[in-house]
Amino acid sequence: MNLIPTLQLTDKVVAITGASRGIGRVIAELFAEAGATVHCIARSLNNLDSLREAIESRGGKCQVHACDVSDFDNLQAIMNEIIEQSERVDILLNNAGIYSTSAVRNIEPSQWSSTLNINCSSAFVAARAVLDKMIEQRWGRVLFVSSISGKSGEPYGAAYSASKFAMIGLMQSLALEVAQFGITSNAICPGWVDTEMAHNQINDPQWCALNNLDVAQSEEIARLSVPQERLLEPLEVAQLALYLCSDAARGITGQAINICGGLSIR
Ligand code: NAP
Repeated sequence: MNLIPTLQLTDKVVAITGASRGIGRVIAELFAEAGATVHCIARSLNNLDSLREAIESRGGKCQVHACDVSDFDNLQAIMNEIIEQSERVDILLNNAGIYSTSAVRNIEPSQWSSTLNINCSSAFVAARAVLDKMIEQRWGRVLFVSSISGKSGEPYGAAYSASKFAMIGLMQSLALEVAQFGITSNAICPGWVDTEMAHNQINDPQWCALNNLDVAQSEEIARLSVPQERLLEPLEVAQLALYLCSDAARGITGQAINICGGLSIR
């Protein structure tokens, strides 16, 4: 008997938001490598096309959909198109996100709502679109890329943190609603991951000033804030996502799992 779990996703249909770069891109590449057909959603068609070419050059299956996920009608239409064409969506990865920094007293309502819409409300719209199919097929995985900032607040990142907390509330409510249908709903909560988002934040003069950091030393301070003294690789997050979307993880639902090099316990 083979006791080692298979992490293959052969014939699974996967929708991933925010797949044009960073964590989402690596998740798309890894899931395609595991045998899934990946539907990649983001705004930058150029980046999506280069991702599709990279996946196809390795024999994988990928389709791309240019969409701003805060355009809910368009996102809904794309999810419908994927379901019509594939007759299923097995795995939904809500990963698209933006960071925004401001003291609470200076956050513009438009900045607040766009952060909430992109990071969290889009996840609700995408999940709502795929649930009927997942329930019908008695199998599904909904995975949210939240953050350790979705478990404790961070100064000058209130809109971001609120959006990531909200994702966890949505994830847990959904987990309870669909548990009996073979569908799991979980969140991954990364700390610092080596992507454009992290470096833009760390080098943002406004974020550094608000946090009393010297821009020139900010990268080093961020790295040393992590007990492992490093930023995580996007692949480490993608590998956790692959496990949570596999059959081996069928007993895990309603969980928000940290992957942060120890940052959350500091
Ligand atoms: P990233 O490199 O900035 O990538 C963000 C992705 O989201 C891109 O593909 C971007 O594509 C997409 N996106 C942003 N706004 C969008 C919109 N309105 N519509 C559609 N797609 C949109 O960031 P990342 O670090 O990979 O982050 C991925 C997720 O991990 C985010 O939810 C983030 O909050 C979370 N996270 C990251 C870290 C970290 O340290 N990096 C830590 C904790 C959590 P386009 O620009 O082409 O639209």
